[in-house]
Amino acid sequence: MPLDIKPIPVLSDNYAWLLTAPEGARAIVDPGEAGPIFDAIGDGRLDMILLTHHHADHMAGTEALRERYGAQVYGPRQKQERLPRLDHAVEDGDVVALGNTQIQVWSTPGHAVGHVSYVVAEVPALFCGDVLFSLGCGRLLEGTPQELFDSLHRYDSLPDSTLVCAGHEYTRSNLAFALHVDPENAALKARAGEVERLLEAGRPTLPVELGVERRTNPFLLAPDVATFARLRREKDTF
Ligand code: ZN
Ligand code: FE
Repeated sequence: MPLDIKPIPVLSDNYAWLLTAPEGARAIVDPGEAGPIFDAIGDGRLDMILLTHHHADHMAGTEALRERYGAQVYGPRQKQERLPRLDHAVEDGDVVALGNTQIQVWSTPGHAVGHVSYVVAEVPALFCGDVLFSLGCGRLLEGTPQELFDSLHRYDSLPDSTLVCAGHEYTRSNLAFALHVDPENAALKARAGEVERLLEAGRPTLPVELGVERRTNPFLLAPDVATFARLRREKDTF
């Protein structure tokens, strides 16, 4: 494994993602609070803090982590004024380095203005914040259905083996909705069993392979933006 990747549960249902490169450099994606990350790192090092978007549950631990570890903070240029002070404002097409590991920045609006995703092609892994969840997708808080649909389909170029490292453990409620709209989907039924086993054991349902999501996630299976928009509306009140 070129890069070690671990979900750290923070707040009630968020995940911050801890990345450790082979030579020891470390990054945290979306630290919604600092305490659990202090527990995970202790007196070790933290080189980078990567923010996907400006919602508090993805960034509120940033200043405390920067202060203790001296980590450099990266986040979207477009919503800079709503983020903690950035050492590096990033935008679509940028590549940042964690040790020898390259991390690509992709623009993925729809849930939030300025939302970016981070892609590590050599794993491959996708840090998608609140764009894609297992069996679900983000709410349309600051964008149009077309924007979020296009953002989800930017991931089409990634291989099936890509590890989806999302910002929330929403899989149980997403599963109920997915089974409601697609009850005969055999791959979905198989994933349902796996999700139940993981949750029963108190384990995260993430990361999940993108190939699994392509066969089971109703929002990725939606054939067009009109269907996608209808599903998103329906899920909001499900
Ligand atoms: Zn959010
Ligand atoms: Fe969130």
